[in-house]
Amino acid sequence: MDMKKRAGQTFVWACLLVLGIGAWSCAQESSLAAAPPGTAVQGKQASEKPAIKVRPIAYTGLRRRLMREYARIHYGREMETIVPQAVVVHWTASNSRDGVFRYFYNEENPRLKNGTLNVASHYLVDRDGTIWQLTPETALNRHAIGLNWCAIGIENVGGAEGREDLTPAQLEANVELIRYLRDKYPTLQWVLGHYQQEQARHTSLWKENVPGYYHGKTDPGPRFMAGLKGRLAGEGVKFF
Ligand SMILES: [Zn+2]
Repeated sequence: MDMKKRAGQTFVWACLLVLGIGAWSCAQESSLAAAPPGTAVQGKQASEKPAIKVRPIAYTGLRRRLMREYARIHYGREMETIVPQAVVVHWTASNSRDGVFRYFYNEENPRLKNGTLNVASHYLVDRDGTIWQLTPETALNRHAIGLNWCAIGIENVGGAEGREDLTPAQLEANVELIRYLRDKYPTLQWVLGHYQQEQARHTSLWKENVPGYYHGKTDPGPRFMAGLKGRLAGEGVKFF
């Protein structure tokens, strides 16, 4: 029933492949938004696709090469794509959607150690609940140590100076997006906040070959994760 939108999405990523960094204008004209943000209605089917806008970050052969390098260092094998098993929810620790987009845009960050693939998440959710897709869902993105090989990342604009200030609209958007992803990928079973990496380390979700490569995290805060857990209770996803 969603073939038109799916075709549009395929077109967007095809543009990426053809045009590389220059894909932005192409994708901008091919927005996947089916409805204005904030128009979710009660009683909609869990599998219904939420309104998603596409704003691709740079994705050329360079990013793919750096993905393979990252995977070789951290997982002992080269890979560019993932089979999603988890969603890791983040906050950006800033209030600037565009600033985060610019930060994620470049393919390489030479300052990073253990591979120079730049950090990025698959999705970015603005304060008003607008969902932006930055890369294909199966791209190997660098957003959560130990989990990048199997996890889709959702960044939420907010959390500046550690404040637990994510909005009700963001909670609603995350619920809708996670339901959509869970229905799309039967392998996807877990939802965790980035700070819950401490618990994930002791599960089969965790892979990390670089000794001592770990950073403590607080995002997106326990209140937001409790909200997600409550809203998605009984819907077949696991939480810590
Ligand atoms: Zn994070």
